Amino acid sequence: MNYIIMDLEWNNTYCKKKKGFMNEIIEIGAVKLNSNLDIVDTYSVFIKAQLGKKLHARVKELTNITNDDISSGTPFSQAMSNFRKWVSHEENVILTWGDTDIRVLIENFKYFNGISFIPFLSNYVNLQKYAQAFMNISKADQIGLSAAAEKLGINFDDYSLHRALDDSKLTADLFKKIFNENMLKSYTLVCDNSFYSKITFKPKVITDINSPLIDKTKMVSLCDVCGSTCERISDWRVINQSFRAIFLCKKCKRKIRFTIRFKEYYDRIDIKSSSVPFIEKKEIKNVVAVEAGTNQQNKTEE
Ligand SMILES: [Zn+2]
Repeated sequence: MNYIIMDLEWNNTYCKKKKGFMNEIIEIGAVKLNSNLDIVDTYSVFIKAQLGKKLHARVKELTNITNDDISSGTPFSQAMSNFRKWVSHEENVILTWGDTDIRVLIENFKYFNGISFIPFLSNYVNLQKYAQAFMNISKADQIGLSAAAEKLGINFDDYSLHRALDDSKLTADLFKKIFNENMLKSYTLVCDNSFYSKITFKPKVITDINSPLIDKTKMVSLCDVCGSTCERISDWRVINQSFRAIFLCKKCKRKIRFTIRFKEYYDRIDIKSSSVPFIEKKEIKNVVAVEAGTNQQNKTEE
């Protein structure tokens, strides 16, 4: 079993054919470890830019890659064919820090080779996800590679970060520190059709109230004081990609502003809702008037 740790650098560039931006891969770096976790080989190549001949200032600054590097690189199709040979048919798992590299790679294969899969990918681990679980870091706080390395006491002074090969080497150092064969197996994905459907799925917020994906039973507010079910007294409105309506607790005579948002993921619908006491604008005016001691306003209130 080989562990192949891969890292890509890319340049975000406008693509006329797609009429939109895409991340064009400009460098690929990788480290191959055997089952004893010894580094047996490394791979590094510049990819010749075909869409964005000029690098973004930010990419240049971050990576120190030059326009000459990318104009003299290997074209994508050739570079990937070489890389596939380097990966070889030996049993392997490919690992990347976060799954963005895989999504970018799929996008580039689609664009340059016209295929919607990665020919050398059979087993895959999102090492960031694995590392966060291993280090007990909540999914909500996504940890960067250098921050994770720092936490594990890895010295990376000699690495030039944001370069594909050095990032792969640092990732390999980190991988060795947190390697657990059984746990890794449970994070290994077989790259079949459902893997591609899932990884390329773009989560989207549902703003059509008639969508069958919406669970209408969740669109009810409970009173924050007595806990009973409130009655909706306004129409639903779409505000900031959420549905919002005013509810009334008949017992407490409290009005509540209820907001709910449904977000569709590949295999689930994520629901977020909140209730806050609703104060009508007219009431706010009265409160201010009472505080100021205006008799007339007090009368209106009675
Ligand atoms: Zn109540």
